[in-house]
Amino acid sequence: MKKTNRIIALLLVLSMVSSLSACKLHFNLHGKASSETSETTETTTTATTEATSSVTTTAKETETSATAASVIDKTGIPEKGCKIEFKPVEDRYHYDMDLTLDKEEKTIGGHVDFTFFNDSDADWDNLCLRDYPSLFKDPKTAGYDAGVWTNGEITDISNIKDGRTGASIDMSRDEDVSVVWLPLATPLAPGEKMTLSYDFIATVPTVADRYGVQNGVFNVTNFYPILAEYTKDGWSHEKYYNCGECFYSEISDYDVRLTVPENMVVLSTGLEQGETQNDGSKTITIHADCVRDFVFCGSEEFKTVEGDYKDTHIRVAYTEENKALTYKTLAEGCLEASVNSLRVFGEAFGEYPYKDLEVILAPIAAGGMEYPNLIIITKDIGAGSDINNVINTVGATIVSHEIGHQWFMGIVGSNSGMEPWLDESFASYTEYVYDYGVNHHRSYIDPSVILGDAYIDDEWIRNNKSVDYIPINRPFYDFNYEGSFITAAYSLGKDALIAMDSCLEDGEFYGIIRAYVQKCAFRNATQKDFFDTLYQYAGTDNKALNKIINSYFDESVQPPAA
Ligand SMILES: [Zn+2]
Repeated sequence: MKKTNRIIALLLVLSMVSSLSACKLHFNLHGKASSETSETTETTTTATTEATSSVTTTAKETETSATAASVIDKTGIPEKGCKIEFKPVEDRYHYDMDLTLDKEEKTIGGHVDFTFFNDSDADWDNLCLRDYPSLFKDPKTAGYDAGVWTNGEITDISNIKDGRTGASIDMSRDEDVSVVWLPLATPLAPGEKMTLSYDFIATVPTVADRYGVQNGVFNVTNFYPILAEYTKDGWSHEKYYNCGECFYSEISDYDVRLTVPENMVVLSTGLEQGETQNDGSKTITIHADCVRDFVFCGSEEFKTVEGDYKDTHIRVAYTEENKALTYKTLAEGCLEASVNSLRVFGEAFGEYPYKDLEVILAPIAAGGMEYPNLIIITKDIGAGSDINNVINTVGATIVSHEIGHQWFMGIVGSNSGMEPWLDESFASYTEYVYDYGVNHHRSYIDPSVILGDAYIDDEWIRNNKSVDYIPINRPFYDFNYEGSFITAAYSLGKDALIAMDSCLEDGEFYGIIRAYVQKCAFRNATQKDFFDTLYQYAGTDNKALNKIINSYFDESVQPPAA
């Protein structure tokens, strides 16, 4: 997710930071140091900095003179633009769903047959499902402060059956109503397979949010009861939060029959296989391979612009809102930015492995939100600006960030409650990768200048306990308030990764990330996976790199003694 709705809070935070010695110095491409906050870096540097290859060399020399030149061991680093192969079919879970969206009642529901296996070493004597729509009823009475309070209802889940025996399963909920427990009369042994069947009806709340309907646009996401992740500590059911990305699930295939009003234009995870007309409705058949979730957006007012990048078909949906040219231009700019993102990220991290990418300009309070094969961008972002501004600026901030999540959340999953920087910091770093690859603007962060002790030991920060950005690699729940989390996971996380990149030769850090993506593709990674990869290729004795890690991250990920 890219947050803009809390921009005032964030700007307040950043203005507090910038009034201190805690500004970050960015070497621009003319080799001069300039003082900027991270937010202004994102929004202004493309306008103020032009790059040419010769200037880049000069800037690099400036940088390398401040830090030790590095040589990484490139043995085993995948080639640029390498393929990312899907997980074998037998290792994926499978959701088979018959769904109906009731536009008048604002409900989504139907029947689910979910086939999966126990991928742990322990017997499962119960299952845990996550039912996020129920949190949209009244999160406060559920003991939650999820920041969402709408006209939602508790999801009706019924006819739950264990396919091995045909036995019915009685469910219960925690005080956190999104946590649903299903006791199994016959435990599921390690490696054993079963099909769980259930019916559900969830209310789509009337709200401009990542899950909700507003102005006839349905954002139907995280809407069906989904199996939680089983970890060494048991079923993971961290508290929902309405910021960033707080979902954690397993790679699955989906076969979906989705019934919607006959005039509704639907964009979804996966590929449409066909469509049948009913009386006043239509049923769309959809198949998705190797994804963590299935979502869709629908509206009777959607128009689309479409394009391709290699084997991937891209559709951008928008509504006209009486400003047809403005919104169409915005959509066309977002299409171009999407093509750019797939090109640049594909070369840097490995090719986007899916055949479709859907981009929806929709009512949503945040700047954007990411799902497998589908991103939502707030419909008014950049509206009215010219197409090049949309491509360059909206592209380098929102579109690139959400498409970056296709690699860091989608392909490489993680527990975003416990290690939120693993997807948000990497997605924020992809904004820079876009800016460099498309706008030819390479930022440098010199760790020897930026991350001196002044940053962390600053008296003001010590005396203001609510400002607790560092270390950035903490669970969401360990930050004192959301603004701290946003600054840490988005701005400082992006800076930390740019700073690591700055310690290495051009392209080397992309190579290390590419190796991390290959190693962890289609499973849930931990930060140890990333740091093991980093140390494998960059060594544990790179002083500049170690200083960055020491400055931004806690002791759990520090390099082992060389
Ligand atoms: Zn994000």
